[in-house]
Amino acid sequence: MPKSASISMSGSTGIPYRKSGPQGLIFDIRPYSIHDGPGVRTTVFFKGCPLTCRWCCNPESQAGKPELVWVRERCLGCDLCLAACPRDALHPAAAGVKVIDSQRCDRCGQCAERCPGEALNLIGRWRTVDEVLAEVARDALYFEASGGGLTLSGGEPLAQADFAAELLRRYKHEEKGAHTAVETCGFVEWPVLAQVAAHVDLFLYDIKHMDPAEHLRLTGRDNRLILDNARRLAHAGRALVIRVPLIAGFNDSREALEAIAGFIRSSLPGVHRIDLLPYHRLGEPKYRRLGKDYALKGEPALTSEQVAQARETLEAQGIEVAVGG
Ligand code: SF4
Ligand code: SF4
Repeated sequence: MPKSASISMSGSTGIPYRKSGPQGLIFDIRPYSIHDGPGVRTTVFFKGCPLTCRWCCNPESQAGKPELVWVRERCLGCDLCLAACPRDALHPAAAGVKVIDSQRCDRCGQCAERCPGEALNLIGRWRTVDEVLAEVARDALYFEASGGGLTLSGGEPLAQADFAAELLRRYKHEEKGAHTAVETCGFVEWPVLAQVAAHVDLFLYDIKHMDPAEHLRLTGRDNRLILDNARRLAHAGRALVIRVPLIAGFNDSREALEAIAGFIRSSLPGVHRIDLLPYHRLGEPKYRRLGKDYALKGEPALTSEQVAQARETLEAQGIEVAVGG
């Protein structure tokens, strides 16, 4: 891992992103996705996000740095990891527990590579554009046949804007104009967004709530920059699908949904569709593994009746709705 490859802070929003450099912090590359844009796609997940949504189902994506995680249930007790660590950062404790000394650990990943039980995992690795493209290129035949392509997701891809722009530019060039999409929370300064937008065919753009105070309460940021960027993209003729994570007690009321539909109708020319993403609890075990608290503990998943009601409310406002994207 290059020590210099840390995420820096940008401008007035304080959003972490790398200003330059050939590497991006990536925590997953998933082929054969059918929910992240048209056709069959490969989705590249960027690590690091300026928001901290309480319902986030990918908590491993939030921190803009690699993280080492130990999963007790998978540990075989072989202690190969202790010998593999060049920094003496792993220590045995009672009952087979492994303690990671976060001061000493530099997230090199050598222990995870040696671990036969996959109990140690390094989440997030610095990858070059060439490395990422080599993996994405394996699915080129599917892209061509299905009209699919490459989707950048996260975390927040725009938090590493230079890397994202270069990845998309090179992909377009090498795959002869194949389709590109970016999933984004939209919390980024406009010049940074515009730099990436030049290489994007479709934005999958999150709008979570129209009220800035409510947005701040549950995501850690207010929504003014996000809404302003959505307006600018739509007025620039960029293709957008709005994604709404549907969270009980936050944005599933008639008023909250009608406010989102009203914003789309009045301020986003050319935008007609919402992908409704109902809250689920599949991410909850990941919080335990990362040693983080799950803010929505005990909150049940949405019922099919609640989802149908939300859909009806939006459709009554003239919005086309897809559940699940
Ligand atoms: S190498 Fe993996 S399986 Fe073996 S003791 Fe370490 S964490 Fe457990
Ligand atoms: S990631 Fe590297 S430094 Fe950290 S515990 Fe594993 S081997 Fe040691």
